[in-house]
Amino acid sequence: MYTKKTPIAANKQIALVAHDNKKAEMITWVEYHKAELERHTLYATGTTGAKIEQETGLLINKLLSGPMGGDQQIGAKITEAKVDLLVFLWDPFEPLPHDPDVKALLRIAAVWNIPVACNRASADFLLTSPLMSQEYVRETPDYERYLSERTS
Ligand code: PGA
Repeated sequence: MYTKKTPIAANKQIALVAHDNKKAEMITWVEYHKAELERHTLYATGTTGAKIEQETGLLINKLLSGPMGGDQQIGAKITEAKVDLLVFLWDPFEPLPHDPDVKALLRIAAVWNIPVACNRASADFLLTSPLMSQEYVRETPDYERYLSERTS
């Protein structure tokens, strides 16, 4: 797979998703990092986003609820470089009807090489990284070259 360089700007586009048993933890985490999160553009699945707005007053671009397609909407934004960091507090103890969407979202985040945190400790490390306030250049698949090789 050929890759190319894709910048992540200093102002990041951050997606936040928390399964039901993880929503309280997400709110606590957002409160803790509110000053940092305010400097970036925030997206979330429907219920997670509504609860964060209610509890913290942060402005969130809310997508559909996860089971209704919200995880897939975030995945699509990752492919378009419209989401460049993901905090996904998924529940390791409970199977969910949209488990295939969860796997798909984690896969597409790996394909497009964006930073992902799946638990609070990782999310703390991410949000306190010096890279949060700098541009970062990531390697991404070179889609144009991929396509031209498959069609020539
Ligand atoms: P929700 O979706 O924020 O609408 O609860 C999260 C999820 O289950 O993926």
